[in-house]
Amino acid sequence: MRQIDHHIVGGSAGSARFGDVLDPNNGGVQARVALGDRAVLDRAVAAAKAAQPAWAATNPQRRARVMFEFKRLVEANMNQLAEMLSAEHGKVIADSKGDIQRGLEVIEFCCGIPHVLKGEYTQGAGPGIDVYSMRQPVGIGAGITPFNFPAMIPLWMGGVATAVGNAFILKPSERDPSVPVRLSELFLEAGMPEGIFQTVHGDKEMVDAILDHPDIGAVSFVGSSDIAHYVYNRGVANGKRVQAMGGAKNHGIVMPDADLDQVVNDLTGAAFGSAGERCMALPVVVPVGEDTANRLRDKLIPAIEALRVGVSTDAEAHYGPVVTQAHKDKVEGWIAKCADEGAELVVDGRGFTLQGHEKGFFVGPTLFDHVTTDMESYKEEIFGPVLQIVRAPDFETALELPSKHQYGNGVAIFTRNGHAAREFAARVNVGMVGINVPIPVPVAYHSFGGWKRSAFGDTNQHGMEGVKFWTKVKTVTARWPDGSPDGGNAFVIPTMG
Ligand code: NAD
Repeated sequence: MRQIDHHIVGGSAGSARFGDVLDPNNGGVQARVALGDRAVLDRAVAAAKAAQPAWAATNPQRRARVMFEFKRLVEANMNQLAEMLSAEHGKVIADSKGDIQRGLEVIEFCCGIPHVLKGEYTQGAGPGIDVYSMRQPVGIGAGITPFNFPAMIPLWMGGVATAVGNAFILKPSERDPSVPVRLSELFLEAGMPEGIFQTVHGDKEMVDAILDHPDIGAVSFVGSSDIAHYVYNRGVANGKRVQAMGGAKNHGIVMPDADLDQVVNDLTGAAFGSAGERCMALPVVVPVGEDTANRLRDKLIPAIEALRVGVSTDAEAHYGPVVTQAHKDKVEGWIAKCADEGAELVVDGRGFTLQGHEKGFFVGPTLFDHVTTDMESYKEEIFGPVLQIVRAPDFETALELPSKHQYGNGVAIFTRNGHAAREFAARVNVGMVGINVPIPVPVAYHSFGGWKRSAFGDTNQHGMEGVKFWTKVKTVTARWPDGSPDGGNAFVIPTMG
């Protein structure tokens, strides 16, 4: 059985506990991953501590050159990485490449890190006084990541954290840990010093060790909301800075004037791509007006029935299996629950099997109509290939639905009316908004982050928000007296008045 070990200075740490890495296409176990503890983390932290001061003192242009070389190496290894990712996660190869590419775009941002690290300077803030600020790395940072983007999310965090001069310890999802290990190997190959980017594996025990470790100054987390909240509270209680992104239930509002063919295209991709296992998926569609709802439903049904579900290596497949049998059971449980709650089950994806892959974790595409806001299946995240139609009589009701939902990650509006779109974007109580864009994941030099239970903490991922999270501002007020008497001691707070 293939064994996946920590990637830390000093090599294999051995392990008393292991977790199974499943094969989503066929069922069964394909590898086992070491589940580490405080002792493993201590080794990683000691190596990080030894390496970080020199890395921070390395000029930012040289750090950026490591990013350039890392980008080249990832591009050269793209096919191998995508196959590895697809085999453990279950997303199709083209989508796996997208996962890696979106992470690489953050690395491209990091290639320009010298520019963004320039501080602020005021000459003559007072008589003979200059003020300047600098951004210094936090020291040692950690990233705890979910299974659904095993390349992109580690690079969101680890790219920026290391580019600004930190040592970074990644604790990826134990469900698809191979790509994160490969990325840490490629960082070393790209010229990053040992100890600056390390990967430790584990479950709650390792997460708690990270949250309690006195030498780790910042923790970035992405995962489900209850755990995000827990990580945020425990990390902050221990004096760390923490950003913790959680779950989502993104709505797509469809106005009566929208181009419905385009909407159906966008929706099928955004609701079912990656088997719905994206925090920016669109699992709820809100047509405005009965006529829009009926027309949309009529177009959606054949589009959904035409979707091809296949193994993750099938180049023709629109999406592959979900990540584990437990997750398949959970998604199918939500389908049963939504039907029990009184929604109309229009297309039922339960019981889907693929010939030759009967034990794979496949769920067929599922469509519900007449879903209402009191249903648990509407309130909670399903994280599977399930699309729910919630009908709204008018724009104000449609605006209210995502605004009042417990999650506030992303939202989209489909319309040809610029005024409606502008009004919606300004008023909706959600962090990321798409206007005729179904999955409004911001580009790398902007920042990613939701609102409400989709994110705890106050800084977003990557872009300038990421730079702020991984650095501390130091501000220097400097005076160089010319030797003439300055009026003696001051016993009141100095002002510029
Ligand atoms: P998860 O919460 O189960 O796991 C995330 C991380 O937390 C993993 O590294 C895991 O090992 C660790 N963990 C699991 N249980 C823990 C516990 N009890 N205590 C401490 N740590 C624990 O999430 P997942 O299933 O891997 O990922 C899917 C979730 O992530 C979905 O809810 C999805 O919406 C969310 N997500 C959010 C974003 C975002 O940016 N908002 C992005 C991607 C995924």
